[in-house]
Amino acid sequence: MKVAIISGITGQDGAYLAALLLKKDYQVVGLLPDGRLLDTVRLDYLGIKDKVILRRIDLLEETQVKRMLAETNPDEFYNLAAISSVGVSFNLPLITFDFNTRSVMVMLESIRQVSPRTRFYQASSSEMFGSLGISSLPIKESFLFHPVSPYGISKASAHWLTVNYREAYKLQTCCGILFNHESALRPAHFVIKKIIRSAIQIKNGDQKELSLGNVSVVRDWGYAPLFVEAMWRMMQQDDMADYLICSGIPTSLRSFVDMVFKKLDLESSEFLKTDTSLLRKLELETIYGDNSLAKARLGWEYNLTTDDLVHRLVEDEIDFMNWEKKMK
Ligand code: NAP
Repeated sequence: MKVAIISGITGQDGAYLAALLLKKDYQVVGLLPDGRLLDTVRLDYLGIKDKVILRRIDLLEETQVKRMLAETNPDEFYNLAAISSVGVSFNLPLITFDFNTRSVMVMLESIRQVSPRTRFYQASSSEMFGSLGISSLPIKESFLFHPVSPYGISKASAHWLTVNYREAYKLQTCCGILFNHESALRPAHFVIKKIIRSAIQIKNGDQKELSLGNVSVVRDWGYAPLFVEAMWRMMQQDDMADYLICSGIPTSLRSFVDMVFKKLDLESSEFLKTDTSLLRKLELETIYGDNSLAKARLGWEYNLTTDDLVHRLVEDEIDFMNWEKKMK
């Protein structure tokens, strides 16, 4: 039985990845932040909380990480733990940079010293690329980074650390450069989750309006349960490398909102309000990627249109909200 470590197991991707690895007969060890209330709602919703081993650890403490590696002897280590919100990173730049980079250094150095056979996956982000002229899109793996947020900068640093440990120390590491991917398990403050939940609540008569910041941004949104499959595939390669994982489809936030409301037989303009406090200091206007390398080399399949994605997200959110009601 293969053993996989997942840091950030309580988050969106951690929960879906744990479910996928359990199906593949892995023993899954999930790492939880030290000294925080345990929030296992996503693992509970997927019905897997009792099937994974949960372990408290401070990922900034090298001795703890080394001990954990020595005790678990993992085949694969998926590092998904991060302060993952661009918006939050502008309010907490120092904490974001410190955790998102130093924890990765601690994990890589601990693997090098204690468990060099362990394969390591780093959750990199499209936010590392920053603003690119529209004529240079779609983004490919070869593009240079020019991040425009503390989050993007922290992810770029962690990305290069991971590449450096592969090149300099010959560890088996890889980075998945993921574009925005969504599901009912996204934390509530992320914009797509907020839009879908609000639209359902408006439809049910429980909410009157939806406040958003800049809706002209164009993004490449994908479906999280399919994106975790790409993470696993990346870790099975003989020659570890870094891949863009994205839908490849540019969609404006404004049209995403329209599609969600239309799916619920609502007219979005009647409910949409602009909240200037939600505008960012610096915003990426348009960003989308090219997933052809991942599809060709990893055999990863992703064929959802934006319409398919909206359909799945609305259906999933309704299911999740019904489950939440039952749990109360
Ligand atoms: P998420 O739902 O926000 O989950 C983040 C996880 O990190 C949570 O389990 C969280 O634990 C944990 N974490 C946060 N601070 C921590 C700390 N100080 N110590 C230990 N654990 C900590 O994020 P996600 O959407 O699953 O994303 C997974 C990874 O992919 C993240 O690294 C993210 O930056 C990256 N990524 C995500 C996307 C996307 O669109 N979702 C795109 C590109 C890259 P708590 O719940 O206890 O806070």
